[in-house]
Amino acid sequence: MFSVLLYYKYTPIDDPKKLRDAQRELCQKFDIKGRIIISEEGINGTCAGTKAAIEEYKRVTGLVPGLEDMEWKESLSQTQVFPKLKVKVRPEIVTLGLKKERVDVSIQNSAQYIEPEELYQLYENGEDVVVIDARNLYEGVVGQFENAIVPDIQNFRDFPEYVKNNLSHLKDKQVVTYCTGGIRCEKASAYLKEQGFANVRQLHGGIHTYGEKTGGKHFQGKLYVFDGRVVMDVNTIDPSIISQCQFCGAETAAYRDCSEPSCGPQFICCDGCFKENGGYCVGHADAQLLNDDLSVEVTVAV
Ligand SMILES: [Zn+2]
Ligand SMILES: [Zn+2]
Repeated sequence: MFSVLLYYKYTPIDDPKKLRDAQRELCQKFDIKGRIIISEEGINGTCAGTKAAIEEYKRVTGLVPGLEDMEWKESLSQTQVFPKLKVKVRPEIVTLGLKKERVDVSIQNSAQYIEPEELYQLYENGEDVVVIDARNLYEGVVGQFENAIVPDIQNFRDFPEYVKNNLSHLKDKQVVTYCTGGIRCEKASAYLKEQGFANVRQLHGGIHTYGEKTGGKHFQGKLYVFDGRVVMDVNTIDPSIISQCQFCGAETAAYRDCSEPSCGPQFICCDGCFKENGGYCVGHADAQLLNDDLSVEVTVAV
């Protein structure tokens, strides 16, 4: 059994390169794979290894000054979910791309937390609350909170533009933002505050922790994760699937890569249709059919 970790911490890191080297050495020693980003503002990682390896990783990383009280989010997997280890130093641990606009989305300006149990209770009580997904559309397609606003964006950098164009009428509402593990909300919620949203809170620990603490009721579908599992379960109370196969419309949360290497994003497709269409997405399967038809005609003509 493998443990998969998800974590972040905003804390000043004096020497990011030194920490990078130490983290790389630590992961290599215990055969841990995944992605770890370090900057002067903190650390953001997702990585996996055997349970014993991850225990040791948490212990040693927790000795680094500033990282003692890390909030680890952990889940299990039958297999190693990362192909490689990447430990990088970057200017920021998550990028909202607002430096030029002089908008203060620093961690000091983040919204207050709402604990998972309280969000759960707001739903149970049917309260008037605007729930905003701070992730990308392809993540929201396979899983989202009930009645959430899921921005039509493909990159976190596009969140501010979406807010300006679509959400200004909600500035006086009670607002809760959420993302996978919480890191994007630190900046998304700060941005909303900057834009005059008066009553914003961010879901503490993200969807991951919500599932653990509440059983996940009111979260529909599955949680998109950036590892080999692609999606994981959140809601164990009344689980559902909210996404459909591109071909037949059957309920499935299976994201696939298209057989055409130049094809863009992943697409959702059931097992049967994936096999039947040679692993192509709808667009490329159609193109493939057309090619077949043309070659038939040519054969007939000869
Ligand atoms: Zn299908
Ligand atoms: Zn394709």
